[in-house]
Amino acid sequence: MLALAATLGGAVDGLSEPASGTLPRTVTIAGLRGETRIAVRSDAAGSPVLAAGPLMAALDGLLRLDGGWAEVTVARQPFRFLVGAPLYQFSSQLMPLAAPASLAGDSLFLPYQFVAEILPYFLGDRYRWNARTARLEELRGRTTTLAGRAAMEAGRLPNGLRPIHTVTIDPGHGGVDPGNPGTFFPRGTREKDVTLQVGLLLREELKRRGIGVRMTRTTDTLIALGDRGGYCTAACDLFVSLHVNSIARRRGYTDVRGFETFFLAEAKTEDAARVAKMENDAVRFETGEDPATVVGGLDFILKDLQLNEHLRESARLAELVQRGLEGVHTGQSRGVKQAGFMVLTTARRPAILVEMGYSTNPQDGRFLTTRSSQKSLAASIADAVVEYLVEYERKTGTAADSGARR
Ligand SMILES: [Zn+2]
Repeated sequence: MLALAATLGGAVDGLSEPASGTLPRTVTIAGLRGETRIAVRSDAAGSPVLAAGPLMAALDGLLRLDGGWAEVTVARQPFRFLVGAPLYQFSSQLMPLAAPASLAGDSLFLPYQFVAEILPYFLGDRYRWNARTARLEELRGRTTTLAGRAAMEAGRLPNGLRPIHTVTIDPGHGGVDPGNPGTFFPRGTREKDVTLQVGLLLREELKRRGIGVRMTRTTDTLIALGDRGGYCTAACDLFVSLHVNSIARRRGYTDVRGFETFFLAEAKTEDAARVAKMENDAVRFETGEDPATVVGGLDFILKDLQLNEHLRESARLAELVQRGLEGVHTGQSRGVKQAGFMVLTTARRPAILVEMGYSTNPQDGRFLTTRSSQKSLAASIADAVVEYLVEYERKTGTAADSGARR
């Protein structure tokens, strides 16, 4: 596996691994006036590229060659590519590319990354990229670009956020605590491995969106449940814990699948209580104590939480994350739930726990251990975090688009 650049404009995930066969044969540009399919070709180095001519026609954009540069203008925003070098320039910044723009005959080809990453990133409220269907969709009635430009000039990120946010990612389990054994995972892969894989991808996705990240762990180590929340204190906006669900062997147990997002509260259903008990069980790896006694302080913490806004904020974040996952997950949505997760009680910020699917279901097991679907899970959670933070900034008066309004 190649190391991927974590910075904005770095290698597009997937492109560095052409052998994985995850690239589509065509991309669909769904503009307001119709759909166009454009073939994905390989350049001389085997990197995926798209013919710039048809692409600009589909995007209603302009293409201009200027010395060694190719300038494409989409939604009145110029992107300049240095032909033959893996570099592009946008908004006076020079950034790296996974593959260069290139000329073949007198046709210009642009890297696949342009539609899969760059356009949806910089013109995010105008274009949405669906990696699963390789479809770039133009959104109706947006006046994005002006707001986007104003945001940038006002010291904000292209997505409208101020560059001040930090999220703590908590990949569940680790070290001697393997989490659930991963019945339908490839041999030797357990819950702790999948939570770490998705956690590291989520870190990249958040950084790419201009959000700072702290990890409770980046390697296969055990962090005590009671300590994990401590990674999200004053300088942290949100706490996101990642887990994989499983269910005890009984008739038909492999049929249960899907994803759910929890926020901290007393468990409202038997199933929520079961999941909380299972995750809280990790305490025995740390202390040998019965988790039931350790989690006893929950009532007190809940009363405290209900007095402040964390509960409501956590619920909102959970709702946005769950809704986002509905767009990428192949299993069904099991909804937003409440439960007393010990890992959430110590975070003094809005905190959620995502059960990303069931390792005891064959389809979920495959989905959770496939690199491309792990990436779409991570990207979807990152998008939801951005949506939440934009909403939060607006509510608290640091309106993301106030710079664009008079
Ligand atoms: Zn877990």
